[in-house]
Amino acid sequence: MPSNDGVRAVARSFRVLIIGGSYGGLAAALNLSDLARGRVCRFNSNPDAKPPSYKIPLQITVVDERDGYFHLIGSPKSLACEKFAAESWTRFKDIPALKSPDFSFIQGTVSKVDSASKIAHILDSETQQNRTEKYDYLIAASGLRRIFPVAPQSVRREDFLEETKKHVENVRNASQGIVVVGGGAVGIEMAAELKILYPEQKITLIHSRSRLLSSEELPDEFAERALTILREENVEVILGKRVVDTTAVDSGKERVWRLTLADGQQLTTGLVLSAISQPVPTSTYLDPEALNEEGLIKIHPSLQFSGNIPNAEHHFAVGDLAAWSGIKRCGGAMHMGQYAANNVHQHMLAERTGEKPTYMNLTPFPNVIGLALGKKCATYNAAEGTKDGEDLMDVMFGKDMANSICWNYMRLSDPPQA
Ligand SMILES: Cc1cc2nc3c(=O)[nH]c(=O)nc-3n(C[C@H](O)[C@H](O)[C@H](O)COP(=O)(O)OP(=O)(O)OC[C@H]3O[C@@H](n4cnc5c(N)ncnc54)[C@H](O)[C@@H]3O)c2cc1C
Repeated sequence: MPSNDGVRAVARSFRVLIIGGSYGGLAAALNLSDLARGRVCRFNSNPDAKPPSYKIPLQITVVDERDGYFHLIGSPKSLACEKFAAESWTRFKDIPALKSPDFSFIQGTVSKVDSASKIAHILDSETQQNRTEKYDYLIAASGLRRIFPVAPQSVRREDFLEETKKHVENVRNASQGIVVVGGGAVGIEMAAELKILYPEQKITLIHSRSRLLSSEELPDEFAERALTILREENVEVILGKRVVDTTAVDSGKERVWRLTLADGQQLTTGLVLSAISQPVPTSTYLDPEALNEEGLIKIHPSLQFSGNIPNAEHHFAVGDLAAWSGIKRCGGAMHMGQYAANNVHQHMLAERTGEKPTYMNLTPFPNVIGLALGKKCATYNAAEGTKDGEDLMDVMFGKDMANSICWNYMRLSDPPQA
């Protein structure tokens, strides 16, 4: 039936449950809400795009362990800087774009999803009670679990600010310098950010392999450029030596750490930060049939589950948790969020109107990376190869580790549209 603005409305209301309210989950929620309201979705940059011809009443519920959106990319900086920390975590209830009757939020942990009955079991953080949530469509966007100091462990903004305060104290009080163990992307960014924030502090990065970024499929040239920039910025880098022992030593007033490397070399430091742990998929709430051997969700290019589970076509996965090619990135997570929103919307329309769905299908993601290295940024993609520079840092990360870039791209300050 046509409404006042000439857009027809689908009668039935759909319930969409999104697990995880970060880049992938929020991108899916916001783009889906745009489409359901009969608008071109916010990530669609095609000026000729036509808005949908139907409005669809829906209720989008986002479940997250955290009480807000945390800018994870900025974690190496926010955990070491109280000002930046305060800017990088916004409670869902304080995000203008989410103040719409389309959205509701549950702070809690999804413990099980029953895809046959389309019910999710949630441990609600507020009540500490188990509750269930029925849904028509589910979008899994809960990413990978990362330990401190790669990511904060707090789930409330207030506690996160306290967690940061303690970490900052530890960083400031480390009178014998700081050692970061692990020269993957996270360890490199951590070491570089600490040096920029605390230029007087001695920062050492230790990596067990002879090349930084040894487990990423990136060319040697890129790894070498990252090494050169780190050294230019006065981060000491030790390559090819595994840390085999870390012992606490009481040196009068303060506790320090003695590290022993595989070749017997010893060094003393005030603080050891580990960036070597592998992140773990949060997919334990799903039927193992939905997962690959790494615990990532098997998907079709439409982002629908491809594993053999009931109602697979009503289940979508986006972001780090989806088994897809390429280095895991927030840009990829947001891109998947848009595609999932489009495809959920198409599926709803097809169910209600009989129209044939037009899915947006993912193409393989190439290996691309942008590394924030203090003042400079280094980037790699197959077309342009390795590049670096301070101007590139501005383009890729701005002044706040891309916090504003992501926030503005998702248009989180925009009030909800009518
Ligand atoms: C230190 C660091 C630096 C990075 N730098 C960059 C960079 O420069 N550029 C880039 O593109 N990418 C970068 N990345 C990668 C990027 O952060 C990820 O690719 C991105 O966060 C993936 O987004 P996502 O929405 O899939 O998951 P996440 O951002 O991990 O969000 C998952 C959400 O799900 C919630 N959750 C988890 N389990 C449950 C559950 N069971 N129930 C309810 N909620 C749950 C979590 O609380 C979280 O809010 C970096 C990552 C790290 C750790």
